[in-house]
Amino acid sequence: MNVSTVMPPDRGPPFPNRADETSFTIARRLKVPIWVFDIDHSRIAFANESACKLWNADNEEGLRARNLGVDMSMTVAKRLRQYQTDFRVSDATFTELWTLYPNGVPKSVMVIYRGFVLPDGRMGMQCEAMAEAEDQPHNLRSAEALLHTDVLITLFSKAGPPLYLNPAARNAFGVQVKSLAALFVDLRDFDTLLEQLDFLGEHRLVTKVRLATAERWFDLSAKACSDAATGQPAILLTAIDVTELKEARDAARHLADRDQLTDLHNRAYLQNHLSKLASHYADRQSAIIFFDVDRFKAINDRYGHEAGDAVLQQIALRTRAILRPDDLAVRLGGDEFVVLLDDISGLADVEQRVARLHKAVSQPVVQDNTIINVATSVGVAVFSSSAIDFTEVLREADIALYASKRAGRNRVTFYTGEMGVAAKVREDMEFELRRAIQRGEFELYYQPRLDIASGRIVAVEGLARWRHPSRGIIMPGVFIPICEETGLIEELGRLVLEIGCMQAIEWHKAGIDINVSLNVSPRQFGGLTLLNTLSTFAALPDFPKGKVELEITESVLIGDHASISESLRQITAMGYRIAIDDFGTGYSNLSFISHFPLTYLKIDRSFIQQLPESGPIIRLILTLAQQIGATVVAEGVETIEQLDWLTRHNCDQAQGYLITPPLPLDALSAFLKSTPRWSVSV
Ligand code: C2E
Ligand code: CA
Ligand code: CA
Repeated sequence: MNVSTVMPPDRGPPFPNRADETSFTIARRLKVPIWVFDIDHSRIAFANESACKLWNADNEEGLRARNLGVDMSMTVAKRLRQYQTDFRVSDATFTELWTLYPNGVPKSVMVIYRGFVLPDGRMGMQCEAMAEAEDQPHNLRSAEALLHTDVLITLFSKAGPPLYLNPAARNAFGVQVKSLAALFVDLRDFDTLLEQLDFLGEHRLVTKVRLATAERWFDLSAKACSDAATGQPAILLTAIDVTELKEARDAARHLADRDQLTDLHNRAYLQNHLSKLASHYADRQSAIIFFDVDRFKAINDRYGHEAGDAVLQQIALRTRAILRPDDLAVRLGGDEFVVLLDDISGLADVEQRVARLHKAVSQPVVQDNTIINVATSVGVAVFSSSAIDFTEVLREADIALYASKRAGRNRVTFYTGEMGVAAKVREDMEFELRRAIQRGEFELYYQPRLDIASGRIVAVEGLARWRHPSRGIIMPGVFIPICEETGLIEELGRLVLEIGCMQAIEWHKAGIDINVSLNVSPRQFGGLTLLNTLSTFAALPDFPKGKVELEITESVLIGDHASISESLRQITAMGYRIAIDDFGTGYSNLSFISHFPLTYLKIDRSFIQQLPESGPIIRLILTLAQQIGATVVAEGVETIEQLDWLTRHNCDQAQGYLITPPLPLDALSAFLKSTPRWSVSV
């Protein structure tokens, strides 16, 4: 049994068929069953004798009186409506196997349908039965299924016109589809389809399809076959509308690929994109720009997190605004951004574009009537897409960014090989440091502090030293900055605190009355573990309350005053004292220190070295300290003249090479024994 709809019409009178007496008279004489169906009223409007027989009716009157809508299913009613619409658009002719239900008894017939304008002008349907089909139930059912399914099923000749459209397809594509190609919005997909059909005989894809009224996404499944009627090569196409599904998936993918705050792409997307770039382009020059906001933490601390977010959003907008369509902007996280300039033409081109970007993202941001100054540091790595490892390129841009930071921030640095070497040295150092911390290769040297009035050593500052197994003693200037950059400072800091506190306990137990002061890095102070560590040591038996000092820098005190004073209060409540280290070099507003529980101010070495020119500043610090009740320690005292000056101006304590450089523990013990008291001449 052949079930097909053939278009355009190849037989019958010209459109439209109209109700007139001549046509009815002719029809009445024909032996083939012919009837006219009034779709709107679900009634037969005209039937010849053969049609009456087919419908099991005694005469035309009786047949016309029947209401066929009574037994009609929804799907059939829907199909008929669709036919009616199709007939209005064109003089289409459909040949289909239909099951009629004369008096409720199913009868399958091949029927040719065509539009027929009823006497009152409405569109009806002229039906002509060809032959009664053999009633093989399976065939009948499959034909019905094809007719009524919502899946779009079509058969196209390879060259062009459709050979068959099931009603769902006809409804979706419209009756005037010219070719398979015409359905494709993206012709590249069509070309792929043809290629795959030639190659594999079948292909499946999701693509955008042009429907009669809209463009929608379809899951297409195509098979190469032969037209059963002509034997010519044909394509059987099944299509399911997946627009909603695709849109939901696209939305989900958008979320997965994007950074929520700025809507720029995210790290995962960048990685993916870079690996694709490597496989797609053999040899093209691109540039990775890595940048971050200078002192972003300070912006957050000072203006609040909302303002920080607003700054990041503005930067994202400005970045996007100056990029070309093929460039990619990514927020890696925090205040770190990456821009990929695709396909650059030479270094001068990159330099120009990077300079523009740097300028755009280093403009002030206005938030709630506050102007927030923004500066950014930038690192650039240029690479060719052939034979490169993209993690390596990212790393290079990162190294260049780091160089910008080191050179004073707010600038652009291009990566060079030497930077790579230096970075390698740093990385090796980091690796070694990590191991050294685990192995406990650190110890403290102690530098005594003199109480000027009494001439007694009242405290020692613990200074970290790395006893390297092969290189001997390594100074903190070498490893502390790396520990701070890498976060290792938390572990090293804990080790230092442990050594220092244990030593303080030991001296206390031995009846030696001396303070121990220990350096705490800002990064350590910002971490989560410091308070825990401190309370652990303070809880040890014989911990000498009030005799362990923690040296912090002024930078620690900038930010949220309330939370900082709260931390300091907790620390002092445990029995520690707070000293401000390198005082005078940081924040210029000196009055802020009165907010905090501070016991010692250590005047930075640079002021002492510039005596007597720096005298006024030192006097100012002394006055200030007096007001807040803090003890002043002069650092880096190297000459007797300096000590004299300090003595005359009632500075409390002095520390420096004049007294002694930092000493390892045994040398310190000897020093303390040999010089019980210093006499200071004024
Ligand atoms: P700082 O806290 O200012 O320590 C004083 C530094 O000045 C020490 O250098 C000391 O040796 C040096 N010094 C002392 N008297 C004189 C002097 O009269 N003249 C001169 N020119 N220098 C003098 P050191 O031991 O090399 O430490 C350098 C810095 O490393 C320290 O500066 C401190 O910021 C940091 N540091 C040392 N140990 C630690 C530690 O355990 N933790 C942390 N976070 N930082 C540490
Ligand atoms: Ca110090
Ligand atoms: Ca210092």
